[in-house]
Amino acid sequence: MKKLLLITIGLFIFATTACDDVRDEFSDLFLDDPDPLITEEDAEAQNFNFTTLRFGIQVSIDEDVDSSVESVLSSIDNAATNFLNCQFAEGEAVGDDEFELEDGETVGPLSDLMVYAVPFTFECEAEDTDTCAGIHFGESGIIVIAEETNGSCEDFGFMEHEIGHRYGMDADHDNIEDFEECIRVENCGFFDFIDRGVGG
Ligand SMILES: [Zn+2]
Repeated sequence: MKKLLLITIGLFIFATTACDDVRDEFSDLFLDDPDPLITEEDAEAQNFNFTTLRFGIQVSIDEDVDSSVESVLSSIDNAATNFLNCQFAEGEAVGDDEFELEDGETVGPLSDLMVYAVPFTFECEAEDTDTCAGIHFGESGIIVIAEETNGSCEDFGFMEHEIGHRYGMDADHDNIEDFEECIRVENCGFFDFIDRGVGG
């Protein structure tokens, strides 16, 4: 009996270690190194000198972003339009004024929103990941969004997700099912969601 127990424990340890190894292998195979850590302070220090046409969202664009300024700004406006039209009966007009969420919290107009566009998936200090393709900082409300992700997801693909956080999706994604329909990321492969991080 004791022998069986030892074997079981042995197998368990082996299985756990093996899993870690496999996970690391996957990381090496499928994930490039993310860009260095971006903190909320880093985001706050940016110069938000661009404004989107539709919602007047304030935008800062890192010099390493490849897309044109116009393309970055319209990607952000489009994501906001798509999300609001999908999520709320009132549609995109929700972004024009203050809006009261179901829990009574008031969200300011999208012209209050600041977005920092960066070139690539980055290290982050989010609730449930340390690698982010985008992050919504709860205190400042600033969104950092990556142009390219580690995987095959479309450029700025996680923008709808981050806007979802602005409009009531919990930082730990506890209530993500209420938003899932409207925060889909196009062209993502299966592995794109492993450790991809979407952020708090
Ligand atoms: Zn998230």
